[in-house]
Amino acid sequence: MSNGLHFRPTRAEIDSDALRHNAAMARKHAGHCKLLGVIKANGYGHGAVEVAHAINGSVDAYGVAFIDEALKLRDAGFTQPIVLLEGCFSEAELPVCAHYNLQPVVHQQQQLDAILQARLVKPLAVWLKADTGMHRLGFSPDEVERVSQQLENCPQIASVTLMTHFANADVTHHPLNEAQLDRFNEVCARTTPARALSAANTAALLSSVLDLGDEASQWCRTGIMLYGVDPTDSATPMSLLPSMRLVAPVMAIREVPKGAAVGYGSTWVAERDSRIATLAIGYADGYPRHAPNGTPVWLNGQQVPLAGTVSMDMITVDVTDLAQVNVGDEAELWGPHLSVATVADAIGTITYELLTRVSERVPRHYK
Ligand SMILES: *Cc1c(COP(=O)(O)O)cnc(C)c1O
Repeated sequence: MSNGLHFRPTRAEIDSDALRHNAAMARKHAGHCKLLGVIKANGYGHGAVEVAHAINGSVDAYGVAFIDEALKLRDAGFTQPIVLLEGCFSEAELPVCAHYNLQPVVHQQQQLDAILQARLVKPLAVWLKADTGMHRLGFSPDEVERVSQQLENCPQIASVTLMTHFANADVTHHPLNEAQLDRFNEVCARTTPARALSAANTAALLSSVLDLGDEASQWCRTGIMLYGVDPTDSATPMSLLPSMRLVAPVMAIREVPKGAAVGYGSTWVAERDSRIATLAIGYADGYPRHAPNGTPVWLNGQQVPLAGTVSMDMITVDVTDLAQVNVGDEAELWGPHLSVATVADAIGTITYELLTRVSERVPRHYK
């Protein structure tokens, strides 16, 4: 993606040291728990292979959404265990999983049936998902004991890690957190006690109310933290470093008289004689089209507001209050000066969506 020749300066700078630092912080937080570095969706938009390299020393395994993402890592030479968080879509994947040491999540009956009927040359390590209240994937708590026994008795199964996923771990006092944890603990108590467990994503790992234990048999599944974002509403700031800086150049500057409108739909109207800078980034690059007027952009040492509807390849910002601006100056859409969380708040979305939607035409520059 980044080895082609690019003349347009628009780019996503990826800071491998920041990724390494954040992984080390996750490692510290996880205590004796094992760490699954979640690098699905092309490493949350950063480049899965590069992220896998950067965090290598701090994680015990990688997590991706589905098998195609895992095979890219195997092609790149990674030999660590890889967990498929959505499991398999068909039985054809099972021999591939066995061959490449991929560990599928088993969350519904068809997946279980396929495994019980498969003839595999190597036994498979699987993760069994319990639905403790998220109601998206997983067996209901009263099914888990049966499924777990079926897997346990299956000669093709090497190990079973019991897992669940929290729906509101980012909200410290959400009542569902404790309810889910209680249900998960009940399920765990009813199945083999020696088994490995996994409940925590980043938010559950960082939130203080959830005591998830600190045991070598526990896996923390951490994604967003690796990319420098604390998803919890906790007041104590974590010393995470932003791993992506999204950059676009000023490509034109114009004076717009009071009363004139800017951009498609004329949604922004100058309340004073204004100066408008046009930046070379748009929704085709992953900058959301629904970003409202006023969304902050960092340019020449200060925040300037988005002025006008986001176009496919361009945005316009109000630079009237900037002392100096020239064509070729580079704006930061998010990064060290303007956190992706601040931008996500302004746009009414979440950091995950902004990071993962940076499109393929934006070259990634690694340092
Ligand atoms: C994506 C994902 C994670 C990682 O979540 P973060 O909030 O990024 O830490 C953990 N577990 C599952 C099942 C996931 O799908």
